[in-house]
Amino acid sequence: MLWKGRRQSSNIEDRRGGGMPGGRIGGGGPIRLPIGRGAGGGGLSGIIILVVLFFALRACGIDPLQILAGGGIGGGQQIGFEQQGNSQVTDEEAQFVSVVLAETEDVWNGIFQAEGQEYSEPRLVLFTNQIQSACGYASSASGPFYCPGDRKVYIDLGFFRELAQKFKASGDFAQAYVIAHEVGHHVQNLIGLLPEFNRQRQSMSQVEANRMSTRVELQADCFAGIWAHYTAQKGLLEQGDIEEALNAANQIGDDTLQKRTQGYVVPESFNHGTSKQRMTWFANGLRNGRLEDCDTFNNPV
Ligand SMILES: [Zn+2]
Repeated sequence: MLWKGRRQSSNIEDRRGGGMPGGRIGGGGPIRLPIGRGAGGGGLSGIIILVVLFFALRACGIDPLQILAGGGIGGGQQIGFEQQGNSQVTDEEAQFVSVVLAETEDVWNGIFQAEGQEYSEPRLVLFTNQIQSACGYASSASGPFYCPGDRKVYIDLGFFRELAQKFKASGDFAQAYVIAHEVGHHVQNLIGLLPEFNRQRQSMSQVEANRMSTRVELQADCFAGIWAHYTAQKGLLEQGDIEEALNAANQIGDDTLQKRTQGYVVPESFNHGTSKQRMTWFANGLRNGRLEDCDTFNNPV
């Protein structure tokens, strides 16, 4: 990706090597990248109705973002969680993350603006080893995640080395895909989808929750594809970038991960989607950059 010299985000919190400030509040669990762990428990129909409504309203030309944005169902639960100052990062790896985050800000600001809405930018926390988030304590071992409670993406940059070595997904655009996927969860939070999912999953069976989680995750992949679409339009992609992202989606599919870690697959436990599904939905977003192509709730996935 041709990222050098481009704008860096002012929403980076560099807490690498630092302590763990902040207290714990509620607001749903963290939405993780899958690296071999099961999802939490949790009702299917409600979120489908919500999402059906979301897309139905869109189709009618009514703006669901308008309905959901102003503290309605979706509003998020940002209740005075400790805000760190902005960090100007100086190392190349963090600068790349900062530029990618800034590029997601530009794309999603534009998409929300086109809907007459304002995009509330997420913050991104860089940490090492362990971190306290509004979703609780997390260690690097759990991989990058988005916490709806404080609207922050958390990444230990060591994960990118793991991505390249252990998951065989190297390249800067594989990393960009991971960031764009987590930002996709933030968009889902803003439009009210994540809060609804987190509420409904309490009453779902594990199998139902896994199925619904898969649809949420595939939509985040699709949103990452939308971001990639606009990034390509800006001429920022290099040869092989899209393949890097698709390969990453392939390598972190539930089936591929399970085969690697345990040698066999348990489809009922899938909660992020298979490799094929993840590549397909990323490609769906990438194709035309349209939200309506990311309806993982009313289409077969
Ligand atoms: Zn995810």
